[in-house]
Amino acid sequence: MTKNQNKAGWHLQNSYAELPALFYSKMKLHPVSSPKLVKFNESLAKTLGLNAQALKEEGQIDILAGSQAPQHAEPLAQAYAGHQFGHFTMLGDGRALLIGEQITPDGDRFDVQLKGSGRTPYSRGGDGRAALGPMLREYMISEAMHALNIPTTRSLAVVTTGEPVFRETELEGAILTRIAASHLRVGTFQFAAQWGTIEELRTLADYAIERHYPEVASHESPYLSFLQEVMKRQASLIAKWQLVGFIHGVMNTDNMTISGETIDYGPCAFMDTYDPDTVFSSIDVNGRYAYGNQPYIGGWNLARLAESLIPLLDENEEKGLGIAQDTMSDYFEIFQGYWLSGMRSKLGLLDQEEGDSLLVDSLLDLMRKNEADFTNTFRALTIEKFEGMPLFETDQFKHWHEKWQERLTRQSRTQDEVFQLMKKHNPAIIPRNHRVEAALEAAVEQADYSVMENLLAALSNPYAYTKEQDDYCTLPPSTDGPYRTFCGT
Ligand code: AMP
Ligand code: MG
Repeated sequence: MTKNQNKAGWHLQNSYAELPALFYSKMKLHPVSSPKLVKFNESLAKTLGLNAQALKEEGQIDILAGSQAPQHAEPLAQAYAGHQFGHFTMLGDGRALLIGEQITPDGDRFDVQLKGSGRTPYSRGGDGRAALGPMLREYMISEAMHALNIPTTRSLAVVTTGEPVFRETELEGAILTRIAASHLRVGTFQFAAQWGTIEELRTLADYAIERHYPEVASHESPYLSFLQEVMKRQASLIAKWQLVGFIHGVMNTDNMTISGETIDYGPCAFMDTYDPDTVFSSIDVNGRYAYGNQPYIGGWNLARLAESLIPLLDENEEKGLGIAQDTMSDYFEIFQGYWLSGMRSKLGLLDQEEGDSLLVDSLLDLMRKNEADFTNTFRALTIEKFEGMPLFETDQFKHWHEKWQERLTRQSRTQDEVFQLMKKHNPAIIPRNHRVEAALEAAVEQADYSVMENLLAALSNPYAYTKEQDDYCTLPPSTDGPYRTFCGT
């Protein structure tokens, strides 16, 4: 690496590589034949202290393609385990490399990970590669989530490799540069609890605390506080998903972060018509990860984290188990608190009343019965334009609307205060599936990225309520079957 090459601004450290060796495998790069940059995130680059112009230059793209390592990179694949659809198994980065942690000008630390970078010791039967469509899909949805103010890993770049990948058909290979607060997962702790010593488990917990919850280090029971804090962040995160109709699709414990960021945009999608049973993923045949189940699965996954931490909660296993169970028994109420508070904001309520839960539930019930579009219902309530949906014609809705108006009057706030609050919590637009598909088709089939650029621009401020966004509010044309998503392997 010449000095000249670091004009891109890489400031990498490798704190994860200082963990005990069982947590990773150090890796050599697998250069690709002809990398080409197809999507780049200028504003994220800036936040990271990277020079966008320099990064896009020839030679530098090799770094985003995993063909060359930037200064101070120590590429490694992380080891982790996880419950996939309820079944425990050994996993690990089978198609990703952590190249290091970028220290930003503000002093923050972010993992820089190349997804689709080739085989690792954890690849099992896989080829370690990724196809262009799923990587662009992750780019779009993760950036849309960020703009919705939902904690998420982010996407810095997508590079095509010039090499084919073989799935059902031959596809164009690609690598996504994923940026994350860290890639520590519930599954990392399950891995440590299953295959590590108690000291290795403790080292991992101390590392996670230092990186994400430094304030608990001085607590009387730091590991208990750690568990409680992860629980709060995940409860808050899942409440945010529910409040915009986001369905993750594959909430396995290896896809749940310790930082509280959304991770792994495989089969995820946003719900159009409100129905708690909505499932998009083709492999989720029993609806384990349906929209309405997400809060419960969050609790289930956190219970796996709690179990993994038992040896650190008390020397006595029985007592440790009791502490873990007690802690977990608070989860649902914590989730419910975040969710109801978010729902109040969606309805313009700045204070609290006993009956608010009922008001929310009765609206959701009417939405379900009348097959109302989730996003557009709240958008209509925000801008008070009740047209285009059968829900709004029903007497029950008119009755509900009266009750809601009475409730709003009781809080004695100005109309503008209410409007501003609602506008901040009810996105005018979401990445609707048919729009995402259209953008992907143009990019992948015709190398036309304009559809995606326009969509991303509209999604970059989903709470703007501009005229240009109106076009993106239209629903998909009715089709023969439900929308289906597939894991991005
Ligand atoms: P995911 O569905 O992306 O959460 O991946 C689940 C597990 O499968 C992880 O251990 C991945 O690293 C691994 N995996 C997914 N796709 C591939 C692939 N193409 N090659 C090797 N491993 C993969
Ligand atoms: Mg995963």
